[in-house]
Amino acid sequence: MRILISADMEGATGVTCTADVVPGTEQWQRFRRLLTGDVNACVAGLFDGGATEVLVNEAHSSQRNVLLEELDPRARLLTGRHKPLSMMQGIDSGVDGVVFLGYHTGAGADGVLAHTYLENSITEVRLDGVAASEGRLNATLAAEHGVPVLLVTGDDLTCADASAYAPRARHAVVKECVSRYAAVCSPPSVTAALITAEATAAMAHAGRGHGDASAHTVEVDFDATHLAHAAAVVPTVEMVGTRTVRFTAESQTAAMKAFKVVTAIAAGAIDGLYG
Ligand SMILES: [Zn+2]
Repeated sequence: MRILISADMEGATGVTCTADVVPGTEQWQRFRRLLTGDVNACVAGLFDGGATEVLVNEAHSSQRNVLLEELDPRARLLTGRHKPLSMMQGIDSGVDGVVFLGYHTGAGADGVLAHTYLENSITEVRLDGVAASEGRLNATLAAEHGVPVLLVTGDDLTCADASAYAPRARHAVVKECVSRYAAVCSPPSVTAALITAEATAAMAHAGRGHGDASAHTVEVDFDATHLAHAAAVVPTVEMVGTRTVRFTAESQTAAMKAFKVVTAIAAGAIDGLYG
């Protein structure tokens, strides 16, 4: 039983504000340790539940957040960026389940540090007409490879979102959202025990099924018109509103690659005070 952990950071134990997740800050150095604790708690639970191999794929920002020197020696870490499937690198390697660890709600939704890829400039993403968090986008990609989402960890709203896109996944709520920048947090000793227990239980649903690729349509709303203009230079991407672009791809794998290009182009077009 080989399991993939996609490790983001906004939904990690104790994280509530920007500095907590921005590489190079003092707070980020602190929360890297808490994130690594969440990862280790998950690894322990997965092995208790029957996993024989665990790959941790870094999924946040520069994708260099987890402290390798503190990682459970039974796991391996895929660290660093420019991976074709980004947050989900490894999902196509024959794994039997995936964990979304430290996840968060999508752009425009309530939730601690809610966003979808870009922190501010994207106000909503829709996948086939449904508002989509990174979790929903990534779960659709996992399903295309026949891989079940076993467990989602994050704030309470992130776990509620997961109930909609991955009804069989288990949850570990590590904090209760109060606002985008505030949460009632449980200490790491408490969240670690919860994550371990849920990861062990989640292994009951591990096992790869039959993947099925189909076409998907993605719409992206930006907070400014020029970002939509910038994104619309990408082949297959068209403007369908003053701040909205749309594209259709033959599979979710292709859609996620196109989405990455759209967000990269838009990020490069953000300009000072006017956004
Ligand atoms: Zn992140």
